[in-house]
Amino acid sequence: MKLQPVIGLEIHVELKTKTGMFCGCSADHFGKAPNTNTCPVCLGLPGALPVPNHQAIDWAIMIGLALDCRVNLESSFDRKHYFYPDLPKGYQISQYDDPFCQAGKLSLASGKIIRINRVHLEEDTAKMQHQVIDGQKMTLVDFNRSGVPLVEIVTEPDIASGEEAKEFLKKLRDIIRSLGVSDCDMEKGSMRLEPNISWSESPEKLNNYKVEIKNLNSFRFAQQGIDFELKRQKELLDQGKTPVQETRGYNPQKRATFSQRVKETSADYRYFPDPDIPPIVLTREYVENLRTKLPQLPEALANEMVNKFHLSLSTAQLLSKDQLKLAYFNQYKNQVEPLELANLIVNKKIDLDQPPPTKAASRAVDLNIIDQVLKENADAVAKYRTGKTSVIGFLVGQVMRLTGGKVDPKQVQDKLLKALQVRNLQG
Ligand SMILES: [Zn+2]
Repeated sequence: MKLQPVIGLEIHVELKTKTGMFCGCSADHFGKAPNTNTCPVCLGLPGALPVPNHQAIDWAIMIGLALDCRVNLESSFDRKHYFYPDLPKGYQISQYDDPFCQAGKLSLASGKIIRINRVHLEEDTAKMQHQVIDGQKMTLVDFNRSGVPLVEIVTEPDIASGEEAKEFLKKLRDIIRSLGVSDCDMEKGSMRLEPNISWSESPEKLNNYKVEIKNLNSFRFAQQGIDFELKRQKELLDQGKTPVQETRGYNPQKRATFSQRVKETSADYRYFPDPDIPPIVLTREYVENLRTKLPQLPEALANEMVNKFHLSLSTAQLLSKDQLKLAYFNQYKNQVEPLELANLIVNKKIDLDQPPPTKAASRAVDLNIIDQVLKENADAVAKYRTGKTSVIGFLVGQVMRLTGGKVDPKQVQDKLLKALQVRNLQG
């Protein structure tokens, strides 16, 4: 029996909604004084009733659509029970049988397709801090994060190495950021990674164990953790042993995983539909309307920028996945030569709070104005074509007039000649 690495990923992404998943508390919890951002709903006090956050539902579905998922028109929230201090109710509101989105995919640069099992919505848990106070080890609980909308994305076990996992995760992060629904900041914990790893015959025929690495907060650690775990498990298997089904942590200093606890199976969670939240029923039109709100995704956008502005692929990729840089590029691309603007942003790293340097701005000619002048002066263009090349001076004058004389006449003439040449060729 030949075994191969079989890796699946669970990714948690905190949405940047204004309020919580089921309550009105601010979802902006990072860096706030502990336990200042809570209410009876997110503290799970008796009698409190959860009300689903519509924005969070829309955004979860948009993530699913961006990952080519099928959207379920009927979905529901379930209670997932486990006993832990970070969970005040004794259960987490999540989705089990009927998640919002299922059966999607994301392709890697090699063309390999990683299937997405599901995209569902749940509430985040509280944050625990392990501290030493007055010489005593203590664990403090901060409930500010409890109830923040959390999207879980689960892949099929189609990934074969730490490197593939890293590529997938980066691509996923770029897509989610482009949707504007999460900042996916791993240092702040708004994107958290949990690979599950085994050696199996194939993704379809899984071995009788699976090891999960919990709460990784960097792509590099995910890659290292997976590679370490593959090696550790392989050594056990080669000795005729079966690795234990368990949850492990990752120690970046030692570059090693360590055992945390034996993993629960879904039966341990005693899932059942949350009786306080009616099923969510959507219409096809509603879902299609959300689809129209999707921006062009980073990969397609990068390809378009290469074709349209002749940027290098790496520059286009950098711009297309960084929302701040992209917005800046779009704001000034008609005033500064796009190639030069991209260079200023990506290589010269200019201050994006300031307009581009005036030298660049005054040298650039808006191609739309060139087009406009050629269209409005068809007579002059016709004369030029019959050989009266001197009319170029007149056309330069028109462009100078329209731009208020802020551009370089020599560059205007070059652009006009180029445009006329192209038009000539097009007949
Ligand atoms: Zn609350």
